[in-house]
Amino acid sequence: MAQHIAQPTVTAPELPAKLPIGVIAPWAVLFGVLMLILLYFVGAEQGATSVMSGEGVHEWVHDSRHLLGFPCH
Ligand SMILES: [Zn+2]
Repeated sequence: MAQHIAQPTVTAPELPAKLPIGVIAPWAVLFGVLMLILLYFVGAEQGATSVMSGEGVHEWVHDSRHLLGFPCH
């Protein structure tokens, strides 16, 4: 009589994990809007299009502005 030894069953996870578009879409929109706001402050927060008065924001993002190739001075 053969003795049956139970083998552990391990199933590999399905890669890449499938995420429903309904879960991703709101987060993608949120981060897209946040990135557009950040892009505005880095690239256009100066002069006539300035939302905040003064040069504070411009000075904070000045190096990023040059790194990304936006016209500055
Ligand atoms: Zn500059």
